[in-house]
Amino acid sequence: MSIAHNLGFPRIGARREMKRAVESYWKGDLDETGLRATGRELRARHWRLQVDAGLDLVPVGDFTWYDHVLDMSVLLGVVPQRFGDVHGSTSVAGGRMPGATAVTGEVDLKTYFRMARGRAPGDKAGSADTYACEMTKWFDTNYHYIVPEFSADQAFRLASSKLFDELAEAKAQGLCAKPVLVGPLTYLWLGKTRGAAFDKLALLDKLLPVYGEILARLKSEGVEWVQIDEPILVLDLPQEWKDAFGVAYQQLQGSGVKLLLATYFGALADNTGVACGLPVDGLHIDLVRAPQQLGAVLNQLPDSKILSLGVVDGRNIWRTDIEKVLVMLEGVKERLGDRLWIAPSCSLLHTPVDLALETKLDEEFKSWLAYATQKVAEVVAVRDGVDHGRSGIGTLLDASRAAVQSRATSKRIHRPAVKERVAELATNADQRHAVYAERARQQREKLKLPLLPTTTIGSFPQTQAIRIARRDFKAGRIGEAEYNERMRQEIALAVRKQEEIGLDVLVHGEAERNDMVEYFGELLDGYAFSENGWVQSYGSRCVKPPIIFGDVSRPQPMTVEWTTYAQSLTAKPMKGMLSGPITMLQWSFVRDDQPRSATALQIAFALRDEVLDLEKAGIKVVQIDEPALREGLPLRHADWAEYLRWAAHAFRVTAGAVRDDTQIHTHMCYAEFNDIIDSIAALDADVITIETSRSDMELLDAFVNFSYPNEIGPGVYDIHSPRVPTSDEIVRLMEKAARVVPADRLWINPDCGLKTRDWPEVETALANMVSAAKTLRDRLAG
Ligand code: GLN
Ligand code: ZN
Repeated sequence: MSIAHNLGFPRIGARREMKRAVESYWKGDLDETGLRATGRELRARHWRLQVDAGLDLVPVGDFTWYDHVLDMSVLLGVVPQRFGDVHGSTSVAGGRMPGATAVTGEVDLKTYFRMARGRAPGDKAGSADTYACEMTKWFDTNYHYIVPEFSADQAFRLASSKLFDELAEAKAQGLCAKPVLVGPLTYLWLGKTRGAAFDKLALLDKLLPVYGEILARLKSEGVEWVQIDEPILVLDLPQEWKDAFGVAYQQLQGSGVKLLLATYFGALADNTGVACGLPVDGLHIDLVRAPQQLGAVLNQLPDSKILSLGVVDGRNIWRTDIEKVLVMLEGVKERLGDRLWIAPSCSLLHTPVDLALETKLDEEFKSWLAYATQKVAEVVAVRDGVDHGRSGIGTLLDASRAAVQSRATSKRIHRPAVKERVAELATNADQRHAVYAERARQQREKLKLPLLPTTTIGSFPQTQAIRIARRDFKAGRIGEAEYNERMRQEIALAVRKQEEIGLDVLVHGEAERNDMVEYFGELLDGYAFSENGWVQSYGSRCVKPPIIFGDVSRPQPMTVEWTTYAQSLTAKPMKGMLSGPITMLQWSFVRDDQPRSATALQIAFALRDEVLDLEKAGIKVVQIDEPALREGLPLRHADWAEYLRWAAHAFRVTAGAVRDDTQIHTHMCYAEFNDIIDSIAALDADVITIETSRSDMELLDAFVNFSYPNEIGPGVYDIHSPRVPTSDEIVRLMEKAARVVPADRLWINPDCGLKTRDWPEVETALANMVSAAKTLRDRLAG
């Protein structure tokens, strides 16, 4: 019999119980005992559900209060020194010696949350300088992990009993538990170094004994299998890191537990030899993202080892094509026998919990989907199909076949007019007529903007009035006419304030948008919205991505009325504001029955019509936001060029049809631009606004080294901070920018949208921006 298992279950709970409990704990409404009770209940429920579905091994240690990488840091005693003084059991009389081991004893829950968010319940605001650890994206997902911080003299020690406590819980429930750990190399890789630069890999020797201790303890508690996640094996690794795998696993071999080395999110490719050769008992590979790797792995995997195949998509919400999986596994079962295990491609953490809670999606639509609960059943069905043939899994197989059939033929999904239009795209549809220099000349003539024009990125504060209007409208307490009227009032307010402040290019303020992707998704055909499709983004924060299920088209204009209304209130140019095709794609669940590039292009065409309609309605400046362009980059460098090619193409299709004197802006933020700067230039936007204030204009270096050809607005106002920049600071930042970009190609603007700020601070900051612009213009003139 093959083993059916899972790599991880979502922790948030079907009704986001984890979020609610943690947030009440933070507020002081729930004590630690209450919080822990919720955790126990969620774990028990999720384990039970997986066992009842028929899994042979259930993951333990996948539950967390915030993040599993943070859990690992705490387990390994990697607690930055600044958190050492803040809880009782660790304070050292007479202050802390530099370089001293920060924490001794068990790391408590408060320290845990201080690491995650800078504070814990009961902390006096600003009393401790315990700024939170950094957070960044987990591989190419929208899940964020807490970045481990290593000092050169970093010590490691077993500092948490959480994993063992949860194991005891699972055992008490009679479960066959498989503890899950982030492997030592992936853990080191994900961390950052503090202080003088040093090689993280040098810490491996000190780290391994603690892993050894953990494994030995798991062994002594009766564990047979441990899943050790090493997803960095799907990345381009330096040779020293590849070599380190052999050293590390050689050393962990003696613990007595069996290790299942889990890789996911891509192909092992050049790391296949390394992964297959390690002295571990099993290997898991992702066949959803990288089905092509199966042959190579089968050829290189020694006969003694288990091969776990990830065949159910852990990153998306579509129902598995079970027949297709069974066909793929036919020869494999013969070859491996019971050494074949079946699993989802990766942890199910990236999928919502239970489709059964969706009451508003119709039955046909629901028949196309599977959330984590359904995916667990699919894993079991595949295993049963592999072991006993198709007859035993009739019901699920039939449902899967029917879904495949209906998705292949549904008129809701496939709309020939959309496909034809994309196919007929003239090859130059993604080119502006004239080159930038000529466009800039025409735009200067038409827009008559001053040197160093001032503008904002789009959104203005989402006030209480806006939230109330939206809530009342959703609840049916006010009609559409009343809602629209209230939004118009907000727009009028935003325009009036911008005129008073004296900005040069105005925006309507995006009052009518609760979210930049959801807003457009709701107006486009081919998009659907779930009620409960929540996934964890970071900590207690969950997002509910829209679902792109079919060919995308625009039934009618989406922003023209709002934008022209705003334009009617001012003689200054009003900037139309759209979310770009790659961002629309990146922040949604995307259909898996055609390449992402094809879906992006359909969205681009829908947006292209919107851009043209705005132009026709007299709008002279249109901004197409692409904050997610960078995060769509593939994990392997070899795949970058192809992605950047189609992504830039989709952007240019969106923007390419306008007249030369219509000015196209784009906006990006919170990403590294250095390595994709040539593709950013290839978008050929007339103006790009980027976030730079936090890095004191350092991000601009990318644009300078490359000598970016068009106009740039480097952000001068950190919109994440309540701090209002002074006019002098803005002058200083812009002078720094002007040393590297000619002043006649510079704009002045905030880092990003202002929706999370309040009006008083926004008004002061923008007024300071405008006064800085005046100072700079005078200086440049004089
Ligand atoms: N136009 C959007 C806004 O101002 C851009 C948001 C973003 O970059 N994430 O809110
Ligand atoms: Zn932004």
